Formats: sequence, structure tokens, C-alpha cells
Amino acid sequence: MKFNVILACGGSGTRCNLGYNKLLLNVNGVPLLEKTVNLFNLDDISQIIISYNKNDIDAVKKIVEGRDNIVLCEGGETRTQSISNALKFIEKDCDFVIIHDGARCFLPKHSLANAMLDAEKYGNSVLYVDSVDSLRVKDGNSSRPIERNSVIRIQTPQIFKTKEIIEAYALADGKSFSDDATLYEEYINKPIHLTYGSEDNIKITTPSDCEKINGGLLIGNGWDTHRLDFGRKLILGGVQIPHDKGLVAHSDGDVLIHAIMDSLLCAMHERDIGVLFPDTDEKYKDISSVKLLEEVLKLIKAKGLAIHSVSAVIMAQKPKLSPHIPTIQYNLANIMSIEENRVSISATTTEKLGIAGREEGISVSSIATLYQL
Ligand code: MG
Repeated sequence: MKFNVILACGGSGTRCNLGYNKLLLNVNGVPLLEKTVNLFNLDDISQIIISYNKNDIDAVKKIVEGRDNIVLCEGGETRTQSISNALKFIEKDCDFVIIHDGARCFLPKHSLANAMLDAEKYGNSVLYVDSVDSLRVKDGNSSRPIERNSVIRIQTPQIFKTKEIIEAYALADGKSFSDDATLYEEYINKPIHLTYGSEDNIKITTPSDCEKINGGLLIGNGWDTHRLDFGRKLILGGVQIPHDKGLVAHSDGDVLIHAIMDSLLCAMHERDIGVLFPDTDEKYKDISSVKLLEEVLKLIKAKGLAIHSVSAVIMAQKPKLSPHIPTIQYNLANIMSIEENRVSISATTTEKLGIAGREEGISVSSIATLYQL
């Protein structure tokens, strides 16, 4: 079966109070609209028509740049008008039209798959979820309860046979409807088939929705090992630790900061410090790793991110690091401008086993979490 998608993106999304269209909101590094478009990268879907708001044409063009299965179509005054405009671009040989809200970027794959299967089986499919709240009907200043189980909430996608939805819209002749199922039911004498959707399939509508979607943390993992030798200073977390050996490196060998930097870079999907600060570059020779960390912090800020927390384990047989941990944590929190309780460093020996155990070197494992500002 061949499907086309229409994304209803004609609104201005002003209820989110962002000062710009919510469809352009950064959702963990990707514009919301791009995230929605990506939901439909499926073999059965041959074309996606985006019914956009004309004020956002430049931003929308940039998002879909290089994709050859996308058609842009100017939206109308109402949702119904926007869909009506988009229907003119449907491929003639397409069997079904999937109509979806541009602001529902969290549609789970299985919900879309279920809806497509049901549409093939029953002729159409409309996603819904149960009502979890108790419900009342307002009547002037009073209200009365209604049975919760008798009410469901309708979502998108809503999928219809191409011929039928085109016919329904032609008959509607510009009359406005809140969703396509209502319009379809009004003009096509066939029942709507309901397919159970998902609570995750929210429509980003309010400022609180916008805050929530970037509430997730980005997590990154980092690891580093350096060789111990005489005649070097031992520096961990920017703090000099008294010891007869230090770590050998192109920089000052601060293996703790190196692992932390790699976890921070990993959390923001950047390449590791070896790529960022190559040890073949003379300008990094004997450089304080604090300076390198400051560069990474600048990158975090430039991406609109902030550090949530950092946790690292130092593996060293000697020296005994426990007395130095509070100073290291304090120093790192200061450098990263975060609360001290967001930096947790622990130290362990490796029971005289391996590189650390034989005192040949020190290893550090780090995990960092970032959040979107
Ligand atoms: Mg290193």
C-alpha cells in the first residue's frame, strides 16, 4: 500500500509564548518539525506534504533541505483550509492519506504502525486514548459530571482512503472542523475506526509542554588512562597531589579532567578530546587541562546546554586519594560553575590488579549529564 502524509503546520503556535513558532523549538538538538518529519521515514510512505505557515517559510525550507520526498504547501486561515490546500498535492496513485499534527513529534513508532495496519483493514483509522481525569460538562455557572469511561480523547494521525478524504473535503467546501475524523464522518457515510494510541503522543501546545520536552538529560561516558613515571607532577582535577610519580602526557596529564571532558563531549554528541585537542599540536604541549576544560565549557554554552552533574571514579593503587577528594570536588565545581553536590568523585584501588594495581598508570571513568537551557 502507498501512503502520503500531510503535516498540519499552518498555525503560529502562539499559545507556547515562545516568540516564534513552536514547530521551530529545539527538541534536544533538533527542530520540533524535523523530529515530526523523521517519524515518517518509512518505505510505505512516498511523500510528505507540509502545510506551513507562510511566516516560517525560510526556517521550514532549511529544515527539509536535501529531502526529495517533501512538498511544501502554504497553509490557510484554518486547519481545515490548510489540509484542503495540501490535498491538492497528494500523489494520484496513493492509497491512503495520513494526516498528522506537526506538533506531535513524540508519536511512538508502534502507534503509527498500528494505525496504518488498521487503516488497511478497516478503511480508516483514528488514534485515541482514554480519559484519565474525571470529567464534567460546564453549563453556564454550574457543571455536571459525566461518566469518564464514555469519553475518549482523539489524537492524530488520522488515516483515510485518498479518494474518500478528497471527496469529504470537496463536500465541506471550506467549512471548518476541529479534526479530519469529524469532517469525514459528516460527508462520508462510513464509520470511523478507532485505534488505541499512546499518552506519549502529546501535542506541544503550552509553555509547560515546551519546558517538559527538554526536561530529559543528555548522558555521556568518558574514560582515560595515563602512564605514571618519575619526574612528573601528579595533577588530578586541577589539584596537585603529593606523590613521587606523575602522569605522562602531551598536556599536564590530568587524567581526571580528560575523562570528564570526554563524558561532557559525549553527552552533547561531539567527538572526543583526542579530535578536539590533538596531541600532535604543539600549542597543547604541557597545557593545563583546566584550560582545555574551559574550552569544552564554552562549547556546552554555545550549544544552549548546561551541566547537570558529573561523576567520576579514579582507579589508582597509590597515592591514597581519599583525603584529596573534597578539594578536587570543590575545585572542579568552581571551574564548571556548578554546585559542589553535582560533582561526585570517588577513588578506588584495583586490588593490585591491572595497570592501576601495578602502579603503572591511573585510569578514570566519568559520566556526565547535560540539560537544555
Ligand atoms: Mg588523556
